[in-house]
Amino acid sequence: MHNITLINGDGIGPEISESVVKIIKESGLDINWDFQSAGADVIESEGTPLPQRVLDSIKTNKVALKAPVTTPIGKGFRSVNVQLRKDLDLYANLRPCKNLPGVKTKFENVDLVVVRENTQDLYAGVEEQIDENTAHSIKIITREASERICRFAFDYAIKNGRQEVCVVTKANIMKLSDGLFLDSYRNVAKDYPDIKQREILVDNLCMQLVQDPTRFDVLVLPNLYGDIVSDLTAGLIGGLGVAQGANIGFDCAVFEPVHGSAPDIKGQNKANPTALLLSAIEMLKYINEYDYAKKIENALFKTLSEGFKTADLGGNHSTSEFTDAIIKNLL
Ligand code: ATP
Repeated sequence: MHNITLINGDGIGPEISESVVKIIKESGLDINWDFQSAGADVIESEGTPLPQRVLDSIKTNKVALKAPVTTPIGKGFRSVNVQLRKDLDLYANLRPCKNLPGVKTKFENVDLVVVRENTQDLYAGVEEQIDENTAHSIKIITREASERICRFAFDYAIKNGRQEVCVVTKANIMKLSDGLFLDSYRNVAKDYPDIKQREILVDNLCMQLVQDPTRFDVLVLPNLYGDIVSDLTAGLIGGLGVAQGANIGFDCAVFEPVHGSAPDIKGQNKANPTALLLSAIEMLKYINEYDYAKKIENALFKTLSEGFKTADLGGNHSTSEFTDAIIKNLL
């Protein structure tokens, strides 16, 4: 029996969480979910969108599945997502991007993985207002953080039968900061002679990704480029409703979809649970439940191939109809 924290989020979070929990239960896998609410709905009662009990639960269970959580803008709260990553030192953001059967997109056979450094770069939050008309934002890159993310990418490649890890920088312009990231990659790569190495500049990568994304396998990037490129790659496979993600550290891992809480379709039984379900499938692999991961993935793929689709993918099935169809295909 696995103990896993479930943050069911707000907006469409509760609907898609219910769908995923139901599918996993019907697959036969026994999970003891530790339900933890967070986000806009708990601010009034607990004074913060991320109460300590949520962090304690993840630290105890080591693994969490997280639906989207809204951080209210302009009320002085730090982003729940950023705080979770910081407090749990979830240094690797992992976004596998693979075509789904039945979801028609511009390209076929896209199967790549974006590994984004999660803690540094221009996202370290070191900014200063020099004067009324000038602001500085400082890009922080350290060898320690760069080597650990590159090592993560190579280890992921080995564990998942991948052939190549390509490092993405703008080291021709930012010779010191991106240069250090590139140098860290080269150092780490020496320990992985069986994985192909490749270096590319981020602008060239973007052009090639929209020309032919099948040229790429595992990509490892500093924080800012990783953020932008991973949304680009989500678009290649059908958009937000199907884009999965995970934030992983040495001790804990939080699996979550890329999309936000979609307040515009909240409570309408319209949301696509696929991104959260794919995140949960990756989570099952992480806890070594490969057979259940495959069983659920097969059921999802079969359901999509049969033409069951929610509105975001151009279909007219509700969240619950889509969920029931997946459960039927588990048998
Ligand atoms: P945030 O700032 O939290 O990312 P956002 O509004 O910018 O919020 P999303 O909440 O991800 O971004 O929503 C963007 C659009 O995509 C919305 O129109 C939303 O309805 C749609 N969308 C996002 N996720 C899903 C989903 N799982 N199923 C269907 N539509 C979705």
